Amino acid sequence: MITIVLSLGLGLLPVFGSNSFSNKNEDDNQIYALPFTVEGILSYEDRNESTSFGRNYLCRVMDYDNNSSDDLLWEGETGRFGEYTSALIANFDNDGDDGNYLLDIYVLCRTRSTNLQQVVLHPTLRLPYGFSSQIAHDVSTSSVIRSIHVLNTDNRSPAMWIFEDMMRVYEYWDLFSGFDSAPVQTIWQNGINEYRGCLNTSCFISQTNSTYPVPEVFISDMRKTSKDTVVHELGHAYIYDLVGSLGTCDRPHSITLSSTLSCAWSEGWADFLPLFMNGDGCYDFELGPCSGYHIDLENASYLDLLTYFNHGEAVEGRVAGALYDLVDGNNESFDLVGLPLDLLVNILHSPPLETSFPVFWNNWIKAGNGYEMELDSIFFLNTVGKKIFLPLILEIR
Ligand SMILES: [Zn+2]
Repeated sequence: MITIVLSLGLGLLPVFGSNSFSNKNEDDNQIYALPFTVEGILSYEDRNESTSFGRNYLCRVMDYDNNSSDDLLWEGETGRFGEYTSALIANFDNDGDDGNYLLDIYVLCRTRSTNLQQVVLHPTLRLPYGFSSQIAHDVSTSSVIRSIHVLNTDNRSPAMWIFEDMMRVYEYWDLFSGFDSAPVQTIWQNGINEYRGCLNTSCFISQTNSTYPVPEVFISDMRKTSKDTVVHELGHAYIYDLVGSLGTCDRPHSITLSSTLSCAWSEGWADFLPLFMNGDGCYDFELGPCSGYHIDLENASYLDLLTYFNHGEAVEGRVAGALYDLVDGNNESFDLVGLPLDLLVNILHSPPLETSFPVFWNNWIKAGNGYEMELDSIFFLNTVGKKIFLPLILEIR
């Protein structure tokens, strides 16, 4: 426990309640120990091995003690560029056990934002991942610099990749959807590919119980390099927070295969969101974009062989391609519009709840959003929609 009482009427001299010093030297230490601030930058190696900044992490300045538990001196959240600056901290360690009363400090940042209600948790410890700076022993300056840089040789670094995916989705949803971002708890651990019934797959778990009182996103370790996988599961979480479940799948499902209208709609939405959030038209199961194991949804068309990519509204990849063509900026021969995301999300948000792509398209028309001819041409490309405006499309081509 630390007693911090800033000086009143004694200039820079701290005043220390009832402490009696054991000898003159320790007393002298205090006389020259000014209050100080701690600042630094949280950064890490991202999936591409470039340096990124850790934004919106909850960071703490801690006092390090050898024999007792460490003491909290300050806490706050990192800024957009990973920066943090503490408030002024009085330099007196009343449980110092290294021979003096000067603080020994370090910074500890966790994959958690209490402001935004986002966290990456370890599945069994049920704690966010923590990353610490080196200790500054016996602080004797008024400004301590302690930054943190996490390399990919640290096997916990993927928690930081995933946390940034969450921040990106949070930010873009807040900017473009017209609705509040969802609170999300994401589970990941190095080497772990199974969690609460999800075996060798990432998943969104809406069922809550006393052990897990909030819905959870699980990212299996085998897909940690795929930011599209992370945003896919976040897509389920966001829509669940907004309106509930869009549908379910009976069996394991695949982007390119026909399932049911409701499965293809629910999964198609979740396949679409990463294309929008991550900015390319491929769904990448690996690092990407459009390399390694991936499906190119932007360039898919009615010309695809059925053996490669099934056609129709019961195919999740077709639904995803259609939704992406609604909002992307790349207008191809048949793709004539780039509409704001909020038009799309508005339809999803307004009752009744759509449980298939055809119902969504009907409700879009009923809502009076327009662009029916143009949209139908997009949907023709993606083998979905009503296909009643084809003559116009073929003329344009
Ligand atoms: Zn899914």
